[in-house]
Amino acid sequence: MILIDGKKIASELREELKKEVSLLKSKYKKVPGLTVILIGELAPSKIYVKNKEKSANEVGLKSDIIKYPHTIDEKTILEKIKELNNDESVSGILVQLPLPKHIDKQKVIETIIPSKDVDGFHPENVGNLSSGYDSSVPCTPLGCYLLIKKIEPNLSGKKAVVIGRSNLNGKPMTQLLLKENCTVTITHSKTKYLKEECLKGDIIVAAVGIPELVRGDWVKKDAIVIDVGINKTDKGIVGDVNFDEVSKVAKALTPVPGGVGPMTIACLLKNTIDCFKRSQK
Ligand code: NAP
Repeated sequence: MILIDGKKIASELREELKKEVSLLKSKYKKVPGLTVILIGELAPSKIYVKNKEKSANEVGLKSDIIKYPHTIDEKTILEKIKELNNDESVSGILVQLPLPKHIDKQKVIETIIPSKDVDGFHPENVGNLSSGYDSSVPCTPLGCYLLIKKIEPNLSGKKAVVIGRSNLNGKPMTQLLLKENCTVTITHSKTKYLKEECLKGDIIVAAVGIPELVRGDWVKKDAIVIDVGINKTDKGIVGDVNFDEVSKVAKALTPVPGGVGPMTIACLLKNTIDCFKRSQK
């Protein structure tokens, strides 16, 4: 069984991106810039944002964090986003989620100009992805896609099963696999016979949030299994896949932690660089 080492693959991707930033700097005499807006004091959000800044600096991006207290009003945030939309030194804008309840998430997402939407959440980018056009793609499914391609470069004709239909993970994952000519089944909490659906998959991507939902006898021999789940349990952080059981049947499997997680930030950097490159065309 191949243990898909997301940490190593993400580190290789960051090295490639570092070289790319250096080339862009020579060509355009400027570097791509990522601005993150952080609202409130949620500990996980603060850690994510800090890691994003550290990784952005490592590859040579210009990185800024704008912090607001959780009491900040929606209008101020929207005005700031509009200002950043018009700032040429900013290639990508990310507003760290979740937001305080009094701020409308969808309004925030839709105020970010699509060309700087490094999260790929703007409806225009969602539409572009489903139409097969070039656009920002949400970072976690993009990371999963790159991991799958490392194991199997030609996905054409493969049967893929995606568990979960969130806008963040399941739906964009489905679009990426469809673009690669997979036959994709997207499943969710109302799906009947989930185990039987999973057993048909040459590729399974689990993005659910239920610890160890996917068992060994749900997986076809030699399937590629990508575990997006991050679940806190008494025995520590586990994924949506029962690692011990599935590792005995799968051809390749991501561990949790150390699989999909590290790819997410690397893909955010990639999206920022891609936004910059599109803006220079
Ligand atoms: P979400 O928005 O809560 O969506 C979960 C999806 O799973 C929903 O579509 C839901 O179906 C489906 N589901 C729930 N119970 C199910 C069941 N018994 N059988 C089949 N499907 C079921 O979650 P998310 O944001 O996509 O995140 C999923 C997991 O990934 C979480 O553990 C999260 O922490 C993790 N995550 C990891 C990363 C990373 O970087 N590794 C990034 C983001 C998220 P319905 O639509 O019918 O409700």
